[in-house]
Amino acid sequence: MSDYYEILGINKNASIQEIKQAFRNLAQKYHPDKKGGNAEKFREINEAYQTLSDAEKRKMYDQYGPAFNQAQAKGGFSGFDNFRDWASWAEAMKENGNKFDFGDFGFGNLGDLFENIFSRDEDSSFRGFRKKTKSPFQKQGKDIEIELAIDFREAVFGTEKEIKLEKYVKCDDCAGLGTEPGTKFNICPQCGGRGQILTSQNTFFGTFQTSSICPECRGQGKIPEKKCKKCQGKGRIKNLSKIKIKIPAGIGQGQTIKFFQQGEAGESGAISGDLYVTVLIRTDPEFIRQGNDIFSQKEISISQAILGDKIEIKTIDGFLKLKIPPGTSSGQSFKLKNKGIIYLSSFKNKIKERGDHIVKIKIKIPKNLTKKQKKLLEELKQEGL
Ligand SMILES: [Zn+2]
Ligand SMILES: [Zn+2]
Repeated sequence: MSDYYEILGINKNASIQEIKQAFRNLAQKYHPDKKGGNAEKFREINEAYQTLSDAEKRKMYDQYGPAFNQAQAKGGFSGFDNFRDWASWAEAMKENGNKFDFGDFGFGNLGDLFENIFSRDEDSSFRGFRKKTKSPFQKQGKDIEIELAIDFREAVFGTEKEIKLEKYVKCDDCAGLGTEPGTKFNICPQCGGRGQILTSQNTFFGTFQTSSICPECRGQGKIPEKKCKKCQGKGRIKNLSKIKIKIPAGIGQGQTIKFFQQGEAGESGAISGDLYVTVLIRTDPEFIRQGNDIFSQKEISISQAILGDKIEIKTIDGFLKLKIPPGTSSGQSFKLKNKGIIYLSSFKNKIKERGDHIVKIKIKIPKNLTKKQKKLLEELKQEGL
């Protein structure tokens, strides 16, 4: 999902008049009943307008990003009755110092991107707070975890990949609601709309009441009058989906990127799971990566080593000149400062910090000498070299 302001083609300070105008123009253009209309686009525009035209919702959106609107679109953030509940929950999350990120990662900016990347060693704590985003009240979509192999250069410069996943997606016939289009919901007869049922248990110590999710409506409190034919009322269907993901420059071996709500769709419009992509980087024939530094080897001749020279070094930026001082020995290393891989964190600081490129020199010992070379070396030998 893109940014609402982007969808409407307005800037963040747009006035309510500008928002209305932008919506009117776009809605006319993309209305599905029109020739050349686009239902998906229209839905997006409408969703963006619903949020930005409401001062309070807009404020929430500005503060918390797209997760807020997704919650709205699905009729509550996985079990929260209204967005005020959701907001206080979000506020509490913030106060707890949790790094929960509301940013939409696939198309978000790189600052958001960074927040969503973590290494395996941080994994356990990460998983800890991931659980907090789950609600027991609705059948959320499952998270999907995959591994993705990319080339060395793709990791260095960043890349965009299209991945294919067989997963549950929202049923577009009923927009995930599970009702046959044109029909309505009825209050669940089993729980009377509460979504939960109380059961009493008589024990030696007295009567205990426990509440559990209503199995009839799965905690929704309402059931479709007529179930959607396409999804049998589940609100989701299995589908082969293509997902475009952005991998930032500087991603490290084994790091995992979280793509917010790109996992499986939930039942009955419940919130989707997240997609976790662990990046595996293929080795390169010329460069070795260690953290954000790059190592390579360069062969030079005996005379270059003795007399010194200016040589060309292949780096990720292309060929660069390096001055080799006279008397360089085999195995000696030279550092090309800031010619290594960009630090992911530097996107956040807006100063692009990079690692270094370290070149290890290897002196080539010639095997087959010409007559002249042999003669010259004999002379050098006489000179004590
Ligand atoms: Zn459906
Ligand atoms: Zn029920």
